[in-house]
Amino acid sequence: MAIRKIRQLGDEILRKKCREVPELTPKLKELIEDMYDTMYEAEGVGLAAPQVGILKRIVVIDVDGTPYTMINPRILETRDTQTAGEGCLSVPGKAGDVTRPAYVRAEAWDENMEHYVVEADGYLARAICHEVDHLEGIMYVDKVEGELYDVVPEDEE
Ligand code: ZN
Repeated sequence: MAIRKIRQLGDEILRKKCREVPELTPKLKELIEDMYDTMYEAEGVGLAAPQVGILKRIVVIDVDGTPYTMINPRILETRDTQTAGEGCLSVPGKAGDVTRPAYVRAEAWDENMEHYVVEADGYLARAICHEVDHLEGIMYVDKVEGELYDVVPEDEE
């Protein structure tokens, strides 16, 4: 287990497009494990490989206790919209309102390179869109409506 350094907004690597993953190597499996460790440590609900400095199309998401490893994720279908506050581990202490699809159907490959399709709404749909954006070098701050606002960590409230 290893915690990796999370790159912050302003770091050029967050603005680069990530490459497809043709096959899973032991090194990439280790990366995925480290991404989960890093995300849980930081109390986030999603993390994309470029956020730890790796330009590969890999994200991990866990919004409600169900982890999703998404390799080469692709959004197949979206429906309706939702607008809510959103944050990012690369933009600590801040949040902002972003409009996202209310429903998404996406495909990806898991940590065993098994193909799957996930249907999501609500927070999970939002997280999938946010993380897939990272793979294109897009940050939520690009899409924010109005100003970013400060968020107080729960243990300080
Ligand atoms: Zn993010």
